[in-house]
Amino acid sequence: MSLIQYKSAREIELMAEAGSMVARTFQRIAPMIQPGVKTSAIDEAVRDSISELGGTPLFLGYHGFPAHSCISVNEEVVHGIPGDRQLMDGDLVSIDIGIGAQGFCGDSARSFLVGEASQETQEVLTVCRKALANGIEAAYPGNTLCGLISSIEEVIEASGRGLVKEFVGHGIGRNMHEEPQVPNFVSNDLKKRDFELREGLVLAIEPMVNGGGGGVKTLKDGWTVVTRDGSVSAHCEHTVAITADGPRVLTLGPGESWPPLPGAVGQ
Ligand code: MG
Ligand code: MG
Repeated sequence: MSLIQYKSAREIELMAEAGSMVARTFQRIAPMIQPGVKTSAIDEAVRDSISELGGTPLFLGYHGFPAHSCISVNEEVVHGIPGDRQLMDGDLVSIDIGIGAQGFCGDSARSFLVGEASQETQEVLTVCRKALANGIEAAYPGNTLCGLISSIEEVIEASGRGLVKEFVGHGIGRNMHEEPQVPNFVSNDLKKRDFELREGLVLAIEPMVNGGGGGVKTLKDGWTVVTRDGSVSAHCEHTVAITADGPRVLTLGPGESWPPLPGAVGQ
């Protein structure tokens, strides 16, 4: 028995509209990502964008999450709560945004460098983007879930960077989190539930890469996940539909394409 909800072509079009709202929100906040800005100010802009676009914020109130976006700086991996932290030159900031519209969800995370980042920080981001790109490239009918995931895992393992295992990608559609779970590494458990990818499956693919080890812990606020060793971390995510023509990235905005155009910000 499969609990996977396969989407029709029409449903995928609706998901692309929700996804476009997420991308347009990233386009709107990208110019704000400068030294000195508070992460709460970015979240306020996310809130305003979602409202103006006519979407619903999916994160606000989700299991009690208190903001419209997750903003995770440097050693913060995912689920950072926007607040008084000011971005500084050299930071890596990962922003995760989910928007609902017309009954469907879009979910994407982009990581940005603030000003001049160190070689180390740039490398971690490059590995994360490459891992996401490889996963997207592998999202075609006839491949398997393990095949897709191993193409993400290979990039991270080859880099010698830390692969975060505690958090996973997911199916997405009318609900933000649907079956199947999409970890970023292949386990024996995953092999047992492996299946062939087919048209209509929509996945949020989201590798998280640490500069040091893959270990993470959650702070006392109950949300913010940080690297155990304090190393910098990146998180990149797109909502991707498997179509007869191959992968279709749904979280793209005006002027954007996949693979990203040269100079694309945050992708
Ligand atoms: Mg997300
Ligand atoms: Mg997600």
